[in-house]
Amino acid sequence: GALGPVETAMVARRQSLLGPAYRLFYETPVHLVRGQGVWLYDPDGNAYLDTYNNVASVGHAHPRVVSAMAEQAATLATHTRYLHDGVLAYAERLLGHFPAPLTHVMFTCTGSEANDLALRIARAATGGTGVIVTANAYHGVTASVAECSPSLGRGVPLGPHVRAIPAPNPHAADPAATFAADVQAAIDDLQRHGIKPALLMVDTVFSSDGLFTDPTTVLAPAAAAIRSAGGLFLADEVQPGFGRMGAAMWGFQRHGVLPDMVSLGKPMGNGYPVAGLVLQPPVIAEFGRAARYFNTFGGNAVAAATAMAVLSVIEDEGLMQNAAQTGAMFRKGLEALAKDYAALGDIRGAGLFLAADIVTDGQPDRARAALLVNALREERILISATGAEGNTLKIRPPLVFSEDNAAFFLDRLSKILNRGL
Ligand code: PMP
Repeated sequence: GALGPVETAMVARRQSLLGPAYRLFYETPVHLVRGQGVWLYDPDGNAYLDTYNNVASVGHAHPRVVSAMAEQAATLATHTRYLHDGVLAYAERLLGHFPAPLTHVMFTCTGSEANDLALRIARAATGGTGVIVTANAYHGVTASVAECSPSLGRGVPLGPHVRAIPAPNPHAADPAATFAADVQAAIDDLQRHGIKPALLMVDTVFSSDGLFTDPTTVLAPAAAAIRSAGGLFLADEVQPGFGRMGAAMWGFQRHGVLPDMVSLGKPMGNGYPVAGLVLQPPVIAEFGRAARYFNTFGGNAVAAATAMAVLSVIEDEGLMQNAAQTGAMFRKGLEALAKDYAALGDIRGAGLFLAADIVTDGQPDRARAALLVNALREERILISATGAEGNTLKIRPPLVFSEDNAAFFLDRLSKILNRGL
């Protein structure tokens, strides 16, 4: 559809107020005024199915989360340099979801800050500076993590101490051996340049590389390789974490690997900016001696109350189980469609994090993926594409997504594919 007069004016106001670096989704941008559960609403009251938003993970405007946030804001909103039980109660509850040696948590406001802090801690703990990431990874916006984020493109060069390796290839003869060999080659290259390896940083589902949830054998040998070179292993759980995988609370658990540090973000506060870094105590010992840590808003009383409510909802509403069940049904539906339509290639994913490669004659087709994303938007389904080739539909709905929601998505997708798109 065409953009209305109000929206046309808003696009111009964004350009003049926010400057040139911002990008909108869709050829016809969506104007939203309200959200509830899996639905987002425009000013005319039209409902859009949100199949992309992993921040509002327990559903938009969840009443329990909203009232916990509002009540705490109306009671006390202060930082972590006073004694307040909220941040401690939340830390205890959160750490209860981690295996035993991961017993500290430090709070930040964003995933970027959590990864940035992890870099500083890794440098202090290892005495090294070298970082290894995957080829189309995204780890955040600060100066130090942007230079560890190849997906930002050539305009944001990798740091001289950063090496990018291919994401695991599920079609390789031995994906785990190949990935570990790539980590080792990056270690060797860093060392040849006189750089001591400090950190292997990976999103445990390789979201921006195109979503490679499987096989789950690739992370353990890679972690062993970085450790034997004196470096640490960071699991970036900003995307897969907080139950999205269905079978596990965290992506690393599916791999049976124990990270030195785990970064958390996006879904942690269901929209309230709260994030953090979970770590094994020995890792922070040197940093703790040399520096103090304070983050004005990180772990503030409202953040802790909000994040606590999010965890309660995940547990009480059985959202991991829903992610497993609805995700499995959704995936089967996509696989069935892929048998009927040549435009759908590889289907991947776990829980409520699914990917469908869009192809023409079996080859990645970025333009076709963009057409599909925009066609779905016209059907009032919100989705985006990702991956190195930009041809992977990234399906990542709130965890309250139902089988009916999945059926609706599959119906609209097949309708669009029927038109030959
Ligand atoms: N790590 C990963 C894997 C992410 O996807 C993101 C955000 N897209 C970040 C880190 C950065 O998080 P934030 O935007 O909260 O700074």
